[in-house]
Amino acid sequence: MNKKEIDLYLKQLFPLNRSLTGDNNRKSLKLLKQIIDIKIKEIPTGKKVYDWTIPKEWNVTDAYIKDKYGEKLISFTKNNLHLVGYSVPVNKKMNWSQLRKKLHYSNKRKSSIPYRTSYYHEDWGFCLKKKQYEQIRDSEGPFKVVIESSLKKGNLTYGEYFKKGRSKREILISTYICHPSMANDCLSGMIVTSFLAREIKKIKTKWSYRFVFIPETIGAIAYCNLNENKLKKIDAGLVITTVGGKGLYGYKQSWDRNHQINSDIEKTLSSLNIKFKTYPFSIRGSDERQYSSQGFKINTASITKDKYFEYKEYHTSADNLKFVKSENIALSIKIYKELIKEIEKWEIFETKMKNCEYMLSRRNLYPKIGGSYKATKNEYTMSDLIQWILFMSDGKKNIEKISSDIGIEMTKVRRISKLLVKKKLLKEI
Ligand code: ZN
Repeated sequence: MNKKEIDLYLKQLFPLNRSLTGDNNRKSLKLLKQIIDIKIKEIPTGKKVYDWTIPKEWNVTDAYIKDKYGEKLISFTKNNLHLVGYSVPVNKKMNWSQLRKKLHYSNKRKSSIPYRTSYYHEDWGFCLKKKQYEQIRDSEGPFKVVIESSLKKGNLTYGEYFKKGRSKREILISTYICHPSMANDCLSGMIVTSFLAREIKKIKTKWSYRFVFIPETIGAIAYCNLNENKLKKIDAGLVITTVGGKGLYGYKQSWDRNHQINSDIEKTLSSLNIKFKTYPFSIRGSDERQYSSQGFKINTASITKDKYFEYKEYHTSADNLKFVKSENIALSIKIYKELIKEIEKWEIFETKMKNCEYMLSRRNLYPKIGGSYKATKNEYTMSDLIQWILFMSDGKKNIEKISSDIGIEMTKVRRISKLLVKKKLLKEI
């Protein structure tokens, strides 16, 4: 990919009024389909997904506030952040005291339009810069308020791309597609994920890769609900978001800080000489909240460049194409691609018998290999090592992790693991 190509998608995708549902989500996925052949799928309004319900589909054609003389004071067509997400249709005249309750501005970021939504409570509103708020206050009413929106039975749209690898085991890569015109939050993730999928498509991989493009929270919950059995087998995931800002790289750890995905991210960033901040796992965040829930327990991490919550332009109109640059996005694609190379190196074994120990002597394992093995640090006998490796090989741990946990060189762990595969006590994942 080159910067020009990234710029082209940034420019085309930025103005679209994405939300949890709607035609602009479909349009966005269709544009991304030019990069990678995403399958676009629909989930109908009203479908129960665990404790949640797929909402009505929301579409907007126009929204504005006019003064007494018919002068437009605020217009959705100038910036889609002006309209509170999921605003119900409105067509009425009102005075300032009624209108002011429906206007949102930020005292902290006076010169930006804040981003607000009202997904699960039917309401409406406009968001504006502080100055615009004061202008309306000082204009002559009554004001004409028009929101040409529709909230109807429809669908929640999402995208999926599956790359089959040699193994049936999968890595989940998820990004959200539900934010209107903000460039770092949401859009940068959509673009990085699409180009990363295109890069992975070109190579033969050991693991299978499941890419999902879903609206945040409700989309991830619905996806988990529809793909429960598949996801239960996945042990590692990445949520790609906020990867194009001006600031520092960072990474949010997965729920098990000792999981290989975290050390691989650190290794990748360090090998590229990239300074980064580390954010420990927190229950506040993006869709790793759903993937890490008790039913799935997928260790899901995120590499970010200007992480959500952390930058001052976050969730405002200042998170725009001046803030996000194609070269940042290109670097983020490269980092994620390098990380995939690390993930591809994982060697994972699983004991075939989960209940109690094998009787090693009956298998002629102990005497055949015989004697005691003296490691530099630990005095492990060969049967100790075999027991350790059988104990640790849970079908999730990479041998690199096992080697560092028991303090034995990886080549030895590999050699013994392969021997145990021959003896039919372990299988390679
Ligand atoms: Zn956001």
